[in-house]
Parts: sequence; C-alpha cells; structure tokens
Amino acid sequence: MTEFGFIDSIKNLFAPLPDNGFEGIGDDCSVLSVGGGESLVFTADLLTEGVHFLRTATSPRELGRKSLAVNLSDVAAMGARPVATLLSIALPADAADAWAAEFMLGYRELSEEFGVTLAGGDTTRSLSGLTINVTAIGRAADAHLKRRSDARPGDVIFTAGELGTSGAGLQDILAGRCDTPAAAVHRNPQPQVAEGIWLGSRPEVRAMMDLSDGLASDLKHILDRSGVGAEVAVEQIPAAPGADVRMAACSGEDYKLLLTAAPEAAERLAADFRIRFAIKKSFALQAYHSNNYKLLWMILKRTKAPQILSGDIVAMTFIGKLVSVFVTIYTIFVVAIVTGVVVNYYGQIVEMQRRETAMMFLDKLERLPELSKEDLEDISKRVQKFR
Ligand code: ADP
Ligand code: MG
Repeated sequence: MTEFGFIDSIKNLFAPLPDNGFEGIGDDCSVLSVGGGESLVFTADLLTEGVHFLRTATSPRELGRKSLAVNLSDVAAMGARPVATLLSIALPADAADAWAAEFMLGYRELSEEFGVTLAGGDTTRSLSGLTINVTAIGRAADAHLKRRSDARPGDVIFTAGELGTSGAGLQDILAGRCDTPAAAVHRNPQPQVAEGIWLGSRPEVRAMMDLSDGLASDLKHILDRSGVGAEVAVEQIPAAPGADVRMAACSGEDYKLLLTAAPEAAERLAADFRIRFAIKKSFALQAYHSNNYKLLWMILKRTKAPQILSGDIVAMTFIGKLVSVFVTIYTIFVVAIVTGVVVNYYGQIVEMQRRETAMMFLDKLERLPELSKEDLEDISKRVQKFR
C-alpha cells in the first residue's frame, strides 16, 4: 500500500468516530475552532535516520533546525502563526550527549527566530537509528485560514519562491559534495512563516499548502481536494539556479508555499508580495498559467535521479492507467481470438466425426441385409450421439 493509500484507509476507519470539533485528516494541519473568531491548528512530522537524513551528511545543529522547520512550514501553509511545539526524540547509544545537546541548540535557534515555545515532548532510547517527531501548534483568525480545498476554476497558481534548490542539494550530497550552497539549503530549509501569515491575511488567496514532496505531487493534493484540474506551463516553472525544470517540478523538500489566487487580484498580490519580501523573480505570476483547469496534468518522464520521486509517481500513475487500458483491450482480443480458434477447431472435429458416421452409415445401409445385430447396435449408438 502507498503512503497515501494508507492515509486514506486511516481516514475511512476513523470517519465514524466523533470529530470533537477538529477538521479531519487531509490538510497540512488539522483545525480546531476555539471561539472568538480564532482557531488552533495542529500538525506532526516524523524524521527518521536513513530515510529523511543521513547523520554523516548533516550536523546535529542543522538537523535540530530542520526538524522544527518542516513543521513550521505546515503551520505557515494554513496561514497561521506557529505558537508551540512538542518534541519527541528516540536516541541511539551512538548519538552521544554532545550530539543531542547540539541538536537541541539548533532546535532552539529556530524556535527563538519564530517565537515558538517548546511545550513538551518525550525522550527515549532507540535500538537503531535516530527518530524525531515534532508536533506543532499554530493560531490564526478563522477568516485567515487557508486550506487545500479552496481552489476554484480560473484561479492562478503561484509558488512563493523558486523550486529545486533542495533537490539539487540532495544530488550534491549523494555525490559526496556536502559543502555546496544547495546542499546547505537542503540540510537547513527556511520555513516561510512570515510569508504564510501575510498570505493568510489576503482574501484573494484561496487554496494554500507547502511544498514538501515536490510540485508535481503536491499540486495534485490541491486539485483533488478542490475538485478541479490545472493547466501548467511546465517550462515556466520557476527553477532555482542549479536546478532544471524537472528538478523544480519533481524534487521535494523546498518548503515553499504553493497557492492559488483569484485571477482578478493575482497580479497585485504578486507585486505586493515581491515588494514585501524582497523577492525578485521567485514569486512567479508568470510561472503558471491555469486555464479554467481544463487539462489535468503535465507528463513528466521517468528519470534516474534518486531525489526525483514524486514526479515519477504522477507520471507512472498516468502512464500506468494508459498501459492498463491497453493491456485490458489486448487481453480481450487475445482471449477472443483464442476462443474463436478453439471453438472452430472443436467444430471441425465434430463435423469430421459426423461425416465419418454418415459415410459409414451409408456404406452399411447398402449392406443392410448382411449386417449382424452388433453392427446395427453400433450404428444406432453413433447416430444417437449426434441427434
Ligand atoms: P504534509 O506533507 O503536509 O506533512 P502528509 O502528506 O504527511 O502532509 O499527510 C497528509 C495528511 O494525512 C495530513 O492531513 C496528515 O495529518 C495526515 N496523516 C498522515 N499520516 C497520518 C497518520 N499516521 N495518522 C493520521 N493522519 C495522518
Ligand atoms: Mg505540508
């Protein structure tokens, strides 16, 4: 089962249980309205050694920052302000006290930068590998909350920055070049907290999420939950320096915000955003062209680059569907032809037997007066068989 298949099954399993005021599974955060026009939002993310990071390729301080950053990014994606986190960590014996202390310094640095309280958590030992879980809590005015489900036909799609730097960084790290600027960005992503809060306050922003798996995969979440399609001019995707368009579309962990905005206000929004956040070309009004969401998807070819996973999933799903339709049609043809051949062959055998019996019958008819009782019984049996 895929990750998303598993999440869907969890969703269905728990759907009949009381929601106690929480919005269900499926957005970057779960929302709980607390009255007075305000809501709290909740999110959790897990980082495991060997899957999300290599201890040999990242410093404990960077990992401390990144563990928090990925959660703050989910809070920002709702248009909310992060207020507190809970940190749970499983430490293996080979992660010494000094390692854990450095990790916490990194976690503290980013907590301080964004004014976030560490409100609790859990600490345990691990028999193998490090596991870090962070739960983040945010706060927002109800009217400022942005969800994945609010994109409408005609909206313009934006990214709040260039894409692909993190993917290029991962490629560098896997090639043993750990000290490139892109590798540093991959290890130390900056969540767009101020940007998310500001975009939350803009009513022309409709749907929003953060880009953790990659544009090709994540845009589909907005489309699915909003019940719309999108037309994407692939060549206009804002690729960061050092990343090609495929990497910008398919590689993950950029943690830039992805949003859709009402078409009539989109240009103004982009201009305001650029001025406010001193971003030159990265908030790209021209990056996406959505045309009443007619055409669903861009086709991305399979690539061998290890970090380009999400685009493959999308392309494979699309191509997989095509292949399965062809295979079904082909199978029906083959079955029909084989059945025809078998039926025809069997018919010919039956026909030959008929002829043989008829000939024998005629032959014996001529010699009727000489036939024995056994011959007559044999003829009777054969004729019975073809009645
Ligand atoms: P994100 O990339 O924004 O962190 P995910 O793709 O990890 O989001 O998760 C998608 C949705 O599924 C989110 O709403 C998340 O809360 C929910 N989810 C993921 N894993 C689980 C789980 N094990 N139990 C309940 N909800 C989950
Ligand atoms: Mg997210």
